[in-house]
Amino acid sequence: MAQLVIAWLYNDRMSIYGDRGNVIAMQRRAEWRGIDVEVANVSVGESLPERVDVYFFGGGQDEEQIAVARDLQGEKAARIRADIEAGAAALTVCGGYQLFGHEYRPFDAAPLPGISVLDVVSVASKQRFIGNVVIDSEWGELVGFENHSGLTSLGPGAEPIGRVRVGRGNNGRDGFEGARYKNAIGCYLHGSLLPKNPRLTDWLIAAGLEHATGEPAVLAPLHDEIEAAAHATAVQRAIKTR
Ligand code: GLN
Repeated sequence: MAQLVIAWLYNDRMSIYGDRGNVIAMQRRAEWRGIDVEVANVSVGESLPERVDVYFFGGGQDEEQIAVARDLQGEKAARIRADIEAGAAALTVCGGYQLFGHEYRPFDAAPLPGISVLDVVSVASKQRFIGNVVIDSEWGELVGFENHSGLTSLGPGAEPIGRVRVGRGNNGRDGFEGARYKNAIGCYLHGSLLPKNPRLTDWLIAAGLEHATGEPAVLAPLHDEIEAAAHATAVQRAIKTR
């Protein structure tokens, strides 16, 4: 089995606004360090690999969320919750973020059950938040792009991943973005997020490796000039267009 196993949840249905770039970024930054990586596509009706170290769950339109919400329930949900409790990492974005919470209530459809990894509830609103986002987080400044009508509120079991500097974030009211529980992260940051935010990419890889081996992982540094330039350009654009 590979040193690092990434499960890409609903890769064929939940990967809008370039979210596939997050999987590519994790895979490449691990491979550039000589780490053997397996990316397992897990869509509707497909089983999870024997071991999963990092989950990725991207964004999707309401209709795709309806399609995958049912499949996610039951044994998949129980397995994912158990893996997160055991220290596996997860990056979930927008629609995936909403379904990692307790519930997502679309505007004109019945509420969708989530899997309660994150203590959040999301409710679609008439207003759609679209634009660049910059937040201040424990991984430093993160930059991305949001496009959601869902407004997410956090319960006591989750903490936000950062404070919004540019953009709307979880709900446009409390000034925060995303949610975290253990090594599971939810956010509204498309972009895709990870190629322009290498510190977060490496954090996910290290957390996944620690889940796989039981030992803390120390990653060799990479030359991140291109990533840094892309990050700086995106931040400047976000500030200019706010
Ligand atoms: N359908 C959800 C919303 O609009 C998620 C959209 C997305 O994944 N970008 O809030």
